[in-house]
Amino acid sequence: MGNIAERIKSGDLLVSDGAWGTFLHQKGLKASECPELWNLDRREEVLEIAQSYVNAGADIILTNSFGGSPFKLESYGLGARTFEINRAAAEISREAAGDQVLVLGSIGPTGKMVFMGEVTEEDLFEGFKEQARGLIAGGADGIIMETMSDLQEAQIAIAAAKSVTNLDIVCTFTFSSTADNEYKTMMGTGIAEYLEMVRNAGADIVGANCGNGTAGMIEIVKQIRGIDAEIPILVHANAGLPVYKDGETVFPESPAEMVSQMRDLVVAGANIIGGCCGTTPDHISMISNLVKEM
Ligand SMILES: [Zn+2]
Repeated sequence: MGNIAERIKSGDLLVSDGAWGTFLHQKGLKASECPELWNLDRREEVLEIAQSYVNAGADIILTNSFGGSPFKLESYGLGARTFEINRAAAEISREAAGDQVLVLGSIGPTGKMVFMGEVTEEDLFEGFKEQARGLIAGGADGIIMETMSDLQEAQIAIAAAKSVTNLDIVCTFTFSSTADNEYKTMMGTGIAEYLEMVRNAGADIVGANCGNGTAGMIEIVKQIRGIDAEIPILVHANAGLPVYKDGETVFPESPAEMVSQMRDLVVAGANIIGGCCGTTPDHISMISNLVKEM
């Protein structure tokens, strides 16, 4: 357990950051480009994103490394530069964060599944280990595996991260609601099964990101708290559920609409609150103001 879980155990409610992907696209990232290569080639723009979330009042910011596993990077011919790209991602966020704000190094899914025979457990482990090594070398205060849905992949990612650091390990899954108000990942994993895996694997902080607006996240947090009253919970909610409008996917909730539900999210038991798709520094700034009031 590192700094972050300790602060939560001492009663702190922490604000995390908002979306990175959409922000990079606004800054001109093309669909064909590798987002993580910007850590090397367009460092200033990535730093501006990190800085904007620090300025908005976030206590924790993430890194531009969601697709930074060697498996994802290799689709751009960059697999051999995994360490360098992830180290740069963490260095950029560290520079924006200074010593007052915490940095969580982001690790997303690889898109490869062991049970489908697309990758071996050993290769997956080594790949995540290399990514985590880069993030820690760049100054991250912990690692977050996010938008995960495959129990086996997440378990291997946690083990790989724990093999290189004693700092906080966060693992959040993406759940969607089913017809009978259960929440499952696209692989069919429910909340109880997810929690059992992450706790056994030794994650310090659990939770959910993406796939839901704040309303859905409140339900997910209640269900986690029904099973575990103590474990720190991080939530990165989308700015509402996506709607398709004028040929584009948009996330409809304004900062005020989103923040109006955040108090209930905290009451339900969330300890770290921030945003996923569609959230901006304006959303984070309002969340930060709410947390100061609370
Ligand atoms: Zn998202």
